[in-house]
Amino acid sequence: MAHTHLLGFPRIGAQRELKFALESFWRGESDAAQLHGTAAALRRHHWALQRDAGLTHVVAGDFSLYDGMLDLSVLLGALPARFGFDARALTPAQYFELARGNAAQPAMEMTKWFDTNYHYLVPELAPDTRFDGGRDDWFEQIRDAQATGATVKPVLIGPVTYLRLAKTHVADFDRLSLLPALVTAYERILARLAALGIEWVQIDEPALCLELDGRWVRAYGDAYATLGRQGVKLLLATYFEAVDDVRHAAKLPVHGFHIDLVRAPQQLAAWRAALPEGAVLSAGIVDGRNIWRTGLRRALDTLRVLHEDLADRLWIAPSCSLLHVPVTLRHEKTLDVGVKPWLAFAEEKLHEIALLARALNEGDAAIADALRESDAAQASRRGSKRVTNDLVRKRVAAVTEGMAERHHPFAERAPRQREALQLPLLPTTTIGSFPQTPAIRQARAAYKRQEIGALEYLNRMRDEIRLAVEKQEALGLDVLVHGEAERNDMVEYFGERLWGYAFSDNGWVQSYGSRCVKPPILYGDVYRPEPMTVDTTAYAQQLTTKPMKGMLTGPVTMLQWSFVRDDQPRSETALQLALAIREEVADLEKAGIRVIQIDEPAFREGLPLKQRDWTRYLAWAVRAFKLCSAAVRDETQIHTHMCYSEFNDILPAIAALDADVITIETSRSAMELLDAFGEFAYPNEIGPGVYDIHSPRVPSVDAMQRLLERACALIPVERLWVNPDCGLKTRGWPETEAALRNMVEAAQRIREQVSAPA
Ligand code: GLN
Ligand code: ZN
Repeated sequence: MAHTHLLGFPRIGAQRELKFALESFWRGESDAAQLHGTAAALRRHHWALQRDAGLTHVVAGDFSLYDGMLDLSVLLGALPARFGFDARALTPAQYFELARGNAAQPAMEMTKWFDTNYHYLVPELAPDTRFDGGRDDWFEQIRDAQATGATVKPVLIGPVTYLRLAKTHVADFDRLSLLPALVTAYERILARLAALGIEWVQIDEPALCLELDGRWVRAYGDAYATLGRQGVKLLLATYFEAVDDVRHAAKLPVHGFHIDLVRAPQQLAAWRAALPEGAVLSAGIVDGRNIWRTGLRRALDTLRVLHEDLADRLWIAPSCSLLHVPVTLRHEKTLDVGVKPWLAFAEEKLHEIALLARALNEGDAAIADALRESDAAQASRRGSKRVTNDLVRKRVAAVTEGMAERHHPFAERAPRQREALQLPLLPTTTIGSFPQTPAIRQARAAYKRQEIGALEYLNRMRDEIRLAVEKQEALGLDVLVHGEAERNDMVEYFGERLWGYAFSDNGWVQSYGSRCVKPPILYGDVYRPEPMTVDTTAYAQQLTTKPMKGMLTGPVTMLQWSFVRDDQPRSETALQLALAIREEVADLEKAGIRVIQIDEPAFREGLPLKQRDWTRYLAWAVRAFKLCSAAVRDETQIHTHMCYSEFNDILPAIAALDADVITIETSRSAMELLDAFGEFAYPNEIGPGVYDIHSPRVPSVDAMQRLLERACALIPVERLWVNPDCGLKTRGWPETEAALRNMVEAAQRIREQVSAPA
């Protein structure tokens, strides 16, 4: 009998119940009891789903009010000392202050969980960090789950991954020195679980899939030599990538291993060879990261071979926690009916797991209907005219290397652009969006509800564009933008105008805390039936004599922030997106737009988990960007924007994009990043963000002047631009205008300094 389980279930709720409960609690409109009531109801529902589907184990301890890493820090009692909280008596208000900051302390740092769009709260460790235990209501969740009568498998993030993802502000402090104390804390937790009668504990160690040096590899050996002997059985879960040294990992003294067979099927043979006598293998066969329905027959082919060997030592699971997919297809009303049968969200995936086990245990006939449906979905997706577009295929096949190169090198383009655009030294600009005011959101909602017609909506958007242009003129900015009023989201907006995309009503995925995203679904060949931004941009341009910057989202970001097809390599999909954007660039240029920005804020997050795979990724990602941008005349200036500060390790690739201007985030690190750009001798123009748009604070002229002076010391002034560090859509107009007025003034002061005789 094959066993079945999940590694984790989305917490947010099919109707985002948790989000709304959290936000109401934060606004003071409900109390902790109401919040905990919602959370408990969600957990009970998730357990019932698993039990009713017949999964042999029900996962518990995966729920969180904000984030699981934060909860683990609380459970361990390892809170950042700067808050001065008593971990054992932490109040709900204090819990959220750790996550969101308070008047005295900024929030704990948040960063992306491996290569997902889920953000965890980074543990802050110091030499005197102790793991003496904190609030332990986590155990109540486990008991509640047991009270349902199900066989409960708690999940914990493992100690080595915890340390690996933690950070410290103490120089030369080795996090691994905390391992013995941490392991002791885990021993206590495991002992308590054993006392509750728990048989299996899932211990997540995705860090085992990273490229680890000898010390970290040894840390695994040390930690599990102890933890493997605590009276509960451990299922060591890895995901998102392959384990490099399977022979070594399989020797860890645990009772089973979960591996990701979607992202890294190639590791299966090594695991079969190395799996110790008696150990469980949990096969992550259903994609936990993407929304495609599983081809049951293919999955069964893989599983059957394993089942013959392993019998009840085979467990069947999604590749990773289902946290990364939306909850259910049940409430989808307007999702394209041609595409919907190809999809499976968390609930549907849960049922796939149950079906696969049934087929193994009872024979295919037991799931005959499901198999037929699955076959039909696979065949329909493979054969669908929606998916393949011959025109796109032909264009992709006709791509040549020359198409990705500008006509002349930057050194020749730059003077032509300066001449054509007539820009001052240190030109000022913004990143694209201006405040998305309530009026804009209301107009969009009214249009969606069909309360106003297309023409009325268009006119309202034009009013907003006119307003943005007037304000920029009055501020004296040099390169203007239209303000992106018409865009709800920088990926969805383009997705809606391209063929090959579908959209869910309710396909929300938690990004952090109460924040959710609804990634569009890229299911087919990407085709641009008509221009997407030309009318708005050209309208904005004719309102001013200043250059109007066209604003597009780049291929890597389109890819990264969508659910993308799994039937062809990501690089291939990126190429299709690039060709569509390339046509848009050409149309903008034809319409008289002389500056075009192609945003790639997700360029870095596309990096593979293993550094040895970076070169390949960067090669196709750079090529895709260049394909978008290279066809323009020398005089047309290409900008790109990336809003993060860890560039150091990918600077050569950034330079290889050959954008004429790049605008980046630097204000929070006080231009630290520019050191790297300076050292690397970045060849093209740079706009280091001189103020942090994430805060409503209006930066002073002096503060921005100082940042610009630092920038001038690192980058030749002829190649510097002046701009905020990201788009302004989350800000209000008053603070935006005040900040930009100061920014223009700071630029003016530096211009005077530079032109004044020394
Ligand atoms: N042009 C976009 C904006 O200004 C860029 C957003 C981003 O970098 N994430 O909103
Ligand atoms: Zn940005």
